[in-house]
Amino acid sequence: MSILINWFKSLFKIKKMQNIILFGPPGSGKGTQAARLVEKYGFKHLSTGDLLRSEIKRETALGMEAKKLMDKGQLVPDDVVIGMIDSAVQEAGDSVRGFIFDGFPRNVAQAEALDSLLGGKEMKIDRLLVLEVPEDVIVGRILARGETSGRADDKNEPVIRDRYKVYREYTVAVADYYGDRGLVKEIPGVGKIEEITDLLVSEIDAI
Ligand code: ADP
Repeated sequence: MSILINWFKSLFKIKKMQNIILFGPPGSGKGTQAARLVEKYGFKHLSTGDLLRSEIKRETALGMEAKKLMDKGQLVPDDVVIGMIDSAVQEAGDSVRGFIFDGFPRNVAQAEALDSLLGGKEMKIDRLLVLEVPEDVIVGRILARGETSGRADDKNEPVIRDRYKVYREYTVAVADYYGDRGLVKEIPGVGKIEEITDLLVSEIDAI
């Protein structure tokens, strides 16, 4: 009997939960849009950049090591970010409405790790939504953000260009990985913030 009840529960969970990867180059508006989607749907927002910056703020050993790479625009090792996401997903428990992953996965190895950790909880990725923004717009936006963000990696144009290069070189492959399963939708990321949210909302409502 309890097996049957658990089976019904897991069926319900698979149906109800929506897990989304908000994707796009640095500065494409993932954080801004994620906050708006959290407000609308009650998703749990998991940003590896935010998690790493919180480690830096608390001056943990992990944070200090990560900072050296982040300031240069390089990726932090996979095991570090995968470990952080794993704990955050476990911590969130079963009651969440779904997750918005932002800044993760950033390469195919991270995508495989994400699939396997979600699979272990009878969850999966439902959509990867790409915010498309051209490189020169990105550079301008991030430099403007650098005026107030306090982030060393937002202040220096060569570092911003390197982050964009890392995106092209390693991260774009994640969209191909999920694209093979028909889960990818591209959204123009230039325009009014509210209009971009509306486009994301219609994609999420269509799931
Ligand atoms: P942005 O998308 O604007 O570059 P993030 O906050 O997502 O900002 O990331 C800032 C930095 O944190 C990255 O340049 C990288 O050094 C590190 N980082 C964030 N997420 C990951 C990840 N999934 N894998 C490796 N490094 C990451």
